[in-house]
Amino acid sequence: MFEDGYKQRGLRNKLVKILQKKGISDPRVLAAIGKVPRHLFFDNALLEHAYQDKAFPIGEGQTISQPYTVAFQTEKLEIKPGDKVLEIGTGSGYQACILLEMGAKVYTIEYNRVLYERVRLFLPQIGYRPYFFHGDGSKGLPSKAPFDKIIVTAGAPIIPTALTEQLADGGILVIPVGNRERQTMIRIRRKGDTLVKEEFDNFAFVPLLGKEGWEG
Ligand code: SAM
Repeated sequence: MFEDGYKQRGLRNKLVKILQKKGISDPRVLAAIGKVPRHLFFDNALLEHAYQDKAFPIGEGQTISQPYTVAFQTEKLEIKPGDKVLEIGTGSGYQACILLEMGAKVYTIEYNRVLYERVRLFLPQIGYRPYFFHGDGSKGLPSKAPFDKIIVTAGAPIIPTALTEQLADGGILVIPVGNRERQTMIRIRRKGDTLVKEEFDNFAFVPLLGKEGWEG
């Protein structure tokens, strides 16, 4: 049922080369992209789409992020084995699998109940076990804070204060911030009480909803 053979591995290796050409250089991120069977997140008929560097609809008006975007955000998170990571916007679960492959302990929260129910059944079936939560991730996950790393995979209007508050000392938040159509990737690093901000390229994410996000 969940086939992952020669053909799929070949397509994955090609995807890794494409990402390298586009500037992804962290070998651990590339190794994780080379391992996670992205085609299992697609219908059988869509195998060719699964390993193109494109976002793809997953239902409920949401998308599985483009592999380049997943790799870019993951690289900026500087994941170390054992890191406690909060992901906001579980979506298909693909990004969570990449983080797990890199040895992180992953807490992932999804606002859309249909996607949440689907992903928490599906990921364990293919061997990935993050901690799943349903709710408004713009408020973070205070009951499990602090986190070494926080990744937001939906476009935010502002940097939610709840998220910077839930960062451990030395922790990193990666979040796309902008308008509903276009966002700049921002990295925030906590150094004691100081937050150090860096800005990177532009991306186009679906909107982050909720209290510190956009109105539904
Ligand atoms: N990380 C996902 C993946 O690997 O497939 C892609 C996520 S998709 C681009 C954005 C997701 O964020 C959607 O599933 C959407 O329902 C979710 N989302 C939007 N606002 C949210 C919020 N306030 N809390 C949690 N999830 C939210």
